Amino acid sequence: MQPAAAILTDLDNTLYNWIDFYAPAFRAMVHTLARETRTEESVLIAQFESVFARHGSTEYPYCIQELELCRSLPKERVDALLHCGRVAFGKTRRRRLSLYVGVRRTLEWAKANCIPVVAVSNAPWYLAWRRIWRLGLKGLISGIAAAEGFELDESVGRFLVKRRAFQPAVRWTVGRSDLKPNPTLYTLVLESLSLNPGRTWIVGDDLDKDIRPAVAVGAISVWAAYGRSCDARNLETVMSITHWQRRKQDVRGGESVVPSYTIGSFDELIDLVPTSQLQLWEGD
Ligand SMILES: [Mg+2]
Repeated sequence: MQPAAAILTDLDNTLYNWIDFYAPAFRAMVHTLARETRTEESVLIAQFESVFARHGSTEYPYCIQELELCRSLPKERVDALLHCGRVAFGKTRRRRLSLYVGVRRTLEWAKANCIPVVAVSNAPWYLAWRRIWRLGLKGLISGIAAAEGFELDESVGRFLVKRRAFQPAVRWTVGRSDLKPNPTLYTLVLESLSLNPGRTWIVGDDLDKDIRPAVAVGAISVWAAYGRSCDARNLETVMSITHWQRRKQDVRGGESVVPSYTIGSFDELIDLVPTSQLQLWEGD
C-alpha cells in the first residue's frame, strides 16, 4: 500500500468525547442561570433549544443573550447572567474536556512521519481552533477546515489576539449548507493540498456525516467506532436540545455505508496507516 499523503480527522467524538464534556458543561450553565433567575431548568432548556434550532448549532456563542427570558431584562442584568453562565460552563469544560487515550501519541507519530493531519469539523472555525489550542495540539494539526461560524464577540477577539502565535498553516471555511455530510470540506482540503484521495485517510465517528462523504471522494475511510460510547445521561441532555437536528437527519435517512476500516481507539491508526519510512526489504 502507498504511503499516506495526509490524515483528515473529525474532532468531536473522534479526538475527544464532545458529549461527555459538553452535556455536563451545559447542565452547569443551566443550573446557574436557573438559580440566578429563579426559573425552572426545564423552561430554560426549552428556550436554549429554540435558540440552537434558530442558528443550527448547539455551540452558538450568544445563546444566553437570546434566551426569551433575557428579552425583557436590562443590558446590565443580561451581561451579569452571561458572565455567570460562561463561568459555569468553562469551569466544567476545563475538568471534562480531554483527549481520548492515544490521540496525542498518534498525532506525534504522524508528525514524525511527515504525514500532515488536518482537522475537518462542522464546528465554527474559531471554536475548532480554540479547542485544538486548549487541548495542547498546537503544532500537531497542520490545518483546520470548518464552518464559517458566527461573528466574533469581544471576548473571543481577545482570546484570538492572545493566542495569535498558534495559527494553523492552512484554513478553510464553508457556509452551513456545505458542511458534512456534504463532501465540500474534504474536496477543498484535497484540492488545495493536491492530495491523492486514494492515499488520504479520513477518520470520523459518524457514519453518515464523516464516512459517507469520505467514501464519496474516494478516500480511505476509517470509522472511529469508539466515538459512540458516552454516558447515558449526557447523551440524554444532548438529545433534549437537538430535536431540530435529529428531525433533519430523519428526513435524510439514507443507505448504509461501509468504511474501509473500523477502529476501537485512535492510536490503531499507527498500525494501519502506511508511512514512507525506508524499508530494508520490499514487502515489509
Ligand atoms: Mg464527530
